[in-house]
Amino acid sequence: SVNRGKVVIIGTSNVGSAVLNKIADFQLASEIALIDLDMDRARGEALDTSHAMSSPYCTNIKIHPGTYEDCRDAAFIVITAGPSILPGETPDRLKLASTNTKIMRSIFSEIVKYTKEAMVIMITNPLDVATYVVSTEFDYPREKILGTGTMLETYRFRYILTEHYAMDPKNIHGYVLGEHGNDAFVAWSTVNCAGLGIDHLDEYFHFEKKLNRHDVEQSLIQTAYDVINLKGFTNTGIAMVACRFIKAILYNEHTILPCSAVMNGEYGMRDVALSIPRMLSQDGIVRSFEVRLADEEMEKLCHAQKSVRAALDGAGVK
Ligand code: NAD
Repeated sequence: SVNRGKVVIIGTSNVGSAVLNKIADFQLASEIALIDLDMDRARGEALDTSHAMSSPYCTNIKIHPGTYEDCRDAAFIVITAGPSILPGETPDRLKLASTNTKIMRSIFSEIVKYTKEAMVIMITNPLDVATYVVSTEFDYPREKILGTGTMLETYRFRYILTEHYAMDPKNIHGYVLGEHGNDAFVAWSTVNCAGLGIDHLDEYFHFEKKLNRHDVEQSLIQTAYDVINLKGFTNTGIAMVACRFIKAILYNEHTILPCSAVMNGEYGMRDVALSIPRMLSQDGIVRSFEVRLADEEMEKLCHAQKSVRAALDGAGVK
């Protein structure tokens, strides 16, 4: 049976270790098992975070290096294994498709030996390719596989927009959808800000120059590469995103968040995974929403589908 407090993290480098530490700090688990090809890294991260358990700020969580057998009773499996884009490389996550498809297949063929019940949170890039591969090539309930997708771009978007107006990003409601990567787009028709209305913001803030939506979209794509080029990798934002999803599912919140899963006929699409708003409960993804998109937003979604499909084709994925 499932241990509701147990999380397995696969891949314990920059991203996996950040996810580990946020889960621990937010007290979202009572046991965390760490798996990596490089088990010394997993052991090191387990030890380091375990030392913090002496602090009164920490719940005493059992953190240990693990094996795939740990998946047997896990409530969550977070997959962060496989390389990332490195500083100075071509800024396109899709070029990781072949390498990380192989890694996803080898990891998932282990997972399915032990469980079909854990909620799987996919983080490895190219995110939509990785999510599609494990969802379609293995006999695992699809509603229990969630790609973090454009939730991260959504957070980035809120930050960029509210930097412009010097305001709390949590005041923004609105979503970035499509591909986690260069074909992410803002569904402007969904954006609102503290009830003020996105079209009236410049007026309220006495800005003479109107917000340039194209620039906002460009910078929300570029900002990921800026982080990579500046610090070498991204990990803190995505760790927060992973915790947001874990919390929604753990607490059976029925929260609607953008995330990636295999399209099931929404917008007529089936041959890719992409992010659209989806409702999350303890059962995983319980509903997906076909948001009414403006024509140019629909074009961008179709473009995202084509890019992800081309990357899947290139990696030999049906
Ligand atoms: P990294 O290259 O530093 O670490 C990858 C880790 O995976 C290494 O520790 C490696 O030993 C391990 N690994 C490789 N193959 C494995 C296997 N078969 N089994 C177990 N472990 C294996 O990468 P990182 O910076 O930690 O990033 C990890 C992944 O997360 C990358 O694909 C990156 O692009 C992705 N990422 C996604 C998002 C997102 O929003 N979805 C954000 C940031 C990073």
